[in-house]
Amino acid sequence: MKLSSIKILLKRKTLLIFFIALVLPLTIVAYLGFDTLSKRHNSTKNILESNLWITSESALNQLEQKLQDLEANILSVEHLQQVYSESNAALKAGVEIFLLDEDLSIAYPQTGIVVNDEFPLGNNSNSAFANEFRQAELYEFQERDYSKATEAYSRCYEIAESERDQAFALEGMARTSISQKKYSAAVRYYQMLHTKHSLLINNAGHPFGIIGLLQLHEINKRLSQDGNLLPDFIDTYEKLKNGYWKLSASSYGFFCSEIESVLESELLSDNNTLLRQEYDSIKSKPSRYLVDLEFAEYLRTDIVSKINEAQILNASENDSQIKRIVSNNNGKWALVSYRVFKDFKDGNNYTGGIKWDTDTLQEVIIPAILENISLDIGLDLFLFNKLTPTPPSGQILENSLSLSFRSFPFPWKLIVAQPAMFIIEKESRKEMLIYGLMLGIVFIVMTLGAILIARDIKRKADSMNMKTEFVHNVSHELKTPLSLIRLYGETLLIKENLSAKQKTDALQVITKESERLSHMINNILDFSKIEMGRKEFNFHKGDIAMTIRDTLDLYRYHLEKEGFKINEEIALDLPLIIFDKQAVEGLMINLLSNAIKYSPEKKVLSISLYEENANIILQVSDKGVGIAPDELSHIFDRFYRTKQKVGMESRGSGLGLTLVKHIVESHEGSIHVSSEPGEGSTFSIKFPISQSSFNEQI
Ligand code: ADP
Repeated sequence: MKLSSIKILLKRKTLLIFFIALVLPLTIVAYLGFDTLSKRHNSTKNILESNLWITSESALNQLEQKLQDLEANILSVEHLQQVYSESNAALKAGVEIFLLDEDLSIAYPQTGIVVNDEFPLGNNSNSAFANEFRQAELYEFQERDYSKATEAYSRCYEIAESERDQAFALEGMARTSISQKKYSAAVRYYQMLHTKHSLLINNAGHPFGIIGLLQLHEINKRLSQDGNLLPDFIDTYEKLKNGYWKLSASSYGFFCSEIESVLESELLSDNNTLLRQEYDSIKSKPSRYLVDLEFAEYLRTDIVSKINEAQILNASENDSQIKRIVSNNNGKWALVSYRVFKDFKDGNNYTGGIKWDTDTLQEVIIPAILENISLDIGLDLFLFNKLTPTPPSGQILENSLSLSFRSFPFPWKLIVAQPAMFIIEKESRKEMLIYGLMLGIVFIVMTLGAILIARDIKRKADSMNMKTEFVHNVSHELKTPLSLIRLYGETLLIKENLSAKQKTDALQVITKESERLSHMINNILDFSKIEMGRKEFNFHKGDIAMTIRDTLDLYRYHLEKEGFKINEEIALDLPLIIFDKQAVEGLMINLLSNAIKYSPEKKVLSISLYEENANIILQVSDKGVGIAPDELSHIFDRFYRTKQKVGMESRGSGLGLTLVKHIVESHEGSIHVSSEPGEGSTFSIKFPISQSSFNEQI
């Protein structure tokens, strides 16, 4: 079987073991864990969901019940009687109250009183007052005899039977006095109209309280007098805005602007800041009466007809039940609740109702009720507007129920959300994440452990391999020179007739092989000393150049015989340094013997020794086989021998460079190799000139 296929097989086996021992159990654990977590999550969710269904039904019922109670409360006879009699609708905020009489005309809020324009001269009126009044009008408008007219109106005043008659007579007296330029009399009459008959309204729909005041102001202007009517005007203005006179919308608007224009022009010239402030504050306040006017208008145009229709259609139904109408009030959704009150006033049936203020209902009334219910049942409750659907949060709508109102035709939905659901969702996501993370960490730790163990095993196996190889190499190394020595020794002993040259050759082989043997044994001994930490150096100050030269000289003959060309550049006068002579010799021998061993063809050896940057540099280069780049980092490892064919064929133990490196480092130096396969190698060693950590031994 080829080595590569064994490797692939080994890799497959490792992967299989890795899969069975790690991936498989972890996958099972992950599956079981995630499955249990999601099942637990789902069952809790199911329980909460069914709870949500039941509870949200009751929440909706409670809300509608509360609203019905509120509605019934406002639409109770007692409450409406109170509102009607006290003319006070501000009792309940958020609703506008109304009452329709038997004919469905608006009894409350009271606005735009219809005046009887035939009064006081109704066709059938033959009373003394009516006759006199007709005479007075004849004097005034046809004969233009104002003094007679004044007298006739005065008589009317005398015989008037009601306040209304009195007021009409007074108005005639005042008018005809002005025509006669009798201003002081006119002032008196208008003052009476303004103060005594203020609330009454004439045939043109004008209240005497206001026209009296306006006329007084006119007279003052005509006479260029300052009657100081300003406080009166302010008071009248406030009454008008508060609905003291139930005028029609057009009369209300007319008098408002009349009084405002008088006040604004008068207050401009007057420097009474207090009155101005008072006026500004009244003007800026929204008019209660205007609200009533608009409400009445809305009732007239939209609601009354609908109530009428419903009453005709459902005549047989129980009238006193509350009914609801949805309408569109100026483009806005509006809800009206109403019921019939039997025998409400003077034996007549009235229809009473309320218009809910949509905003108050949606933003105040319902949220307040929901808050209470929510506290009670522990669910989140809020309104969701169908018309403007802006959900409060997408997530909330996901896990919630939306219910339509049953009793009230609201355009909203009630959203019921289970707060615990979000927490559970969040918690479960967190749990899954933590579980996944833990599994990931376990997987990483286990994989790392497996890798470390595998690396350790591989290292141990490599080291075992190296040691076996070493033993094999060394025994071979020892055996070869020994057999040669023995062979040539025996030859010398046995063969007597050997020529002188043959004897010399034999002796040379014996010497060379014994040198090799001793080199080998020295290396092994040195290495074992280093391994046991017993290697000692004898440092002495000396001339390292001499040691290098001497060692080279020792090998010179041998090298030349092998056919080496030696380039030698050893600088003169190098500084003395502290070194172990024997160790440096050993280092040189190792480098030289490597150069010989790994230069099978081009036999060139260069040795140089020189000083550079406070170091002595020793360089040994050859033009031999060189070293492959991937081997460069290993050649100093113990027992390491080249894997290349050329090198493998040479003999060696893999200890030479390990020893060289140890010797260099013991001298605080460093070694560097540069090599190109097929081009040769250069070993550069740096010996620092001033070594600090050790002293010369004596
Ligand atoms: P050995 O020479 O006994 O194998 P060494 O420790 O001396 O052991 O060398 C280790 C390896 O370094 C050698 O196997 C060889 O591959 C490489 N090597 C050392 N010196 C040289 C050289 N001068 N040229 C080429 N390769 C060398």
